[in-house]
Amino acid sequence: MSREIKTLCPYCGVGCGLLATSDGARISKVRGDPKHPANFGKLCPKGASVAQTVDVATRLRSAFVRERETEFTPVSPSIAIRHAAQRLNQVIQTHGPESVAFYLSGQMTTEAQYLAGKFAKACLRTNHCDSNSRLCMSSAAAGMNLSLGSDGPPVCYDDINHADAFFFIGSNAAECHPVTFARVKERLDRGAKCVVADPRKTATAQAAHVHLAVRPGTDLALLNGLLHLLRKWDKLDATYIANHTDGWSQLERILPDYSPPRVALICGIEEADLLAAAQVLAGAKRFMTFWTMGVNQSVLGTFTSSAIINLHLATGQIGKPGAGPFSLTGQPNAMGGRDAGYMSHQLPGQRFIADPQHRAQMETFWNLPPNHLQPHPGYDAVRLFDAAAAGEIKAIWIIGTNPAASLPNLKSVRAGLEAAELVIVQDAYNPTETNRFAHVLLPAAINLEQSGTFCNSERRVTLMEPVVAPPGDARPDWWWVQQIAQEMGYGRGMSFANAAAIFDEFARSTAGRPNDQSALHHKLLRERGPQQWPYPAMGQSQSRRYEDGRFPTPTGKARLLAREHVELDDRPTRAFPLILTTGRLLNQWHTRTKTGNVPLLNKLDPAPYLQMHPQDAGELGLHDRQHVAVASRFGEATTFLKLDDSITPGVCFMPIHWNDLWAQGASPNEAASNLRDPISKQPALKAVAVRVTPANMTPTTPPQLPAATHAGALR
Ligand code: SF4
Repeated sequence: MSREIKTLCPYCGVGCGLLATSDGARISKVRGDPKHPANFGKLCPKGASVAQTVDVATRLRSAFVRERETEFTPVSPSIAIRHAAQRLNQVIQTHGPESVAFYLSGQMTTEAQYLAGKFAKACLRTNHCDSNSRLCMSSAAAGMNLSLGSDGPPVCYDDINHADAFFFIGSNAAECHPVTFARVKERLDRGAKCVVADPRKTATAQAAHVHLAVRPGTDLALLNGLLHLLRKWDKLDATYIANHTDGWSQLERILPDYSPPRVALICGIEEADLLAAAQVLAGAKRFMTFWTMGVNQSVLGTFTSSAIINLHLATGQIGKPGAGPFSLTGQPNAMGGRDAGYMSHQLPGQRFIADPQHRAQMETFWNLPPNHLQPHPGYDAVRLFDAAAAGEIKAIWIIGTNPAASLPNLKSVRAGLEAAELVIVQDAYNPTETNRFAHVLLPAAINLEQSGTFCNSERRVTLMEPVVAPPGDARPDWWWVQQIAQEMGYGRGMSFANAAAIFDEFARSTAGRPNDQSALHHKLLRERGPQQWPYPAMGQSQSRRYEDGRFPTPTGKARLLAREHVELDDRPTRAFPLILTTGRLLNQWHTRTKTGNVPLLNKLDPAPYLQMHPQDAGELGLHDRQHVAVASRFGEATTFLKLDDSITPGVCFMPIHWNDLWAQGASPNEAASNLRDPISKQPALKAVAVRVTPANMTPTTPPQLPAATHAGALR
């Protein structure tokens, strides 16, 4: 008999609730959950078509192992677990625990993220455990930590209903967070105002009252210029600044340098447009600022995140309905992962490895002897693969992500994967660009096939229930981690009956921390529905943080940080005259392992391209649909040219979704910068100086695994 089961969309950090109708074997229908506070029933095309990603030919249904240079052999889960455990033990015995690295994903459940992090840091004693949040929003997290004293947006989706102005900077929310943007659009239709800063006239910019087509890499100058004008027009909140912030005098000192003529010149915009944008913010009773990868993926990502927060602190536009800085989360559970401490500098409960007190707290919590945890942060994502290429990291365990397509500096990533003695890849799909480097392939359940939690952009934790059973030998990520840990002899502390039991331990680890979730558990989430942290509230509002004007810093005040604009190193030159920027499209997701299976999505966004203004193409002698090479001083990608006058001349754009499985060198990451933000270590994937020349693309034939069924795998 069919029934409707509550689950979650597996894509972006909006975190839309789904109701999936299933008889236990097949999913017959998916609709938006009308009661889920993230979407109230709405879905974008990706969420609406998610059932088509479940029972597809590209699902990985069996484990596979191979020795170097040999073919993959299908094996039973028990053989794969024994093999992986033996190989990991061998690497550790020969090279030590810090020769092992983990690369995790914001698409894993919180339970799996917590368990993998615990296994790496507490059991194996390696902090080389990072995640693809490093690519996504580590700059936003670092900015919030520095400015507000803790990670996690202060606002909630309901604030959109109370704001009368919106500022999007480095965010094409109409395509990347469409359900949240639909909510903003409803407010715009009822009279609210909108400013968008983006070098492209994106779908978001088309809805704006003021579009600032800023030069890539100039957001900091723009933010300081807006603050300059708000101060000049006496629109700052002096009482809030005095009572709830530190650092105003230093910030105020730099503002005279950001006069409208200078800012307009730096940003490449009209002074009148800058003034119009500032007037929208000055005239708003309540405004919200949304930002995401356009800000974060820069060497100035952390500084720019702090400059966004400066704007809100200095105007008192925080801690009240309809006001605040809102870092939109790229992945469905990046917030949960950061809460669980799944990055190489973190421990659970928003603790930091470099802090001796935080290490001592987790050693007590995990029943470990004093000084058991390694005291130094592990390698971030980029350095982790560099260290593998250099022979320092010998084993890499990758879960739910595709670094051979999604990281910058892909040559080094591939070299690292080739050099490693052991590569374990846990994924729900095959082929992927990364799987071909694996020695052990473990089939993972997707979120429609398991129980677990995700935490979305507004800090809301939702429980998903299994809708159908995973195919073949596929199992939840946490199950594979626990089985291999136990096989390696780490039974103590790695023996959980189910995901609910893991969540209970994770939740207890957050007690008393800024992201306290200690009173949450699966049963409560099942009975009362999704909940925001902090939970328990301890006298605070759960919807909105910092309503009392107190911040989790040593002084109890937020920090206004003076952040100066600096010109990026990678500016256009005669050799590389254009600036390449990258981003998502509405109907594809990351490296297309899921969305590549959905005919409608492929029809809507069918192929890669380089978007270029016709004026630039004319000067270069290029024509529409031509194959082109996009070369930077870091590498070269190939794609089709798409002429479009909605992009600023001098800037070009490539979507991130197409990679080697589509055509050799199709990823924009082939040409991506290997520079990083010095604080957050986030790669500067945006704003790379490139030249574009005619070229040929080579279509790719995806590699196949030998046929394996559940019954046919070696036992
Ligand atoms: Fe899924 Fe994001 Fe679309 Fe919602 S907006 S349905 S979470 S992809």
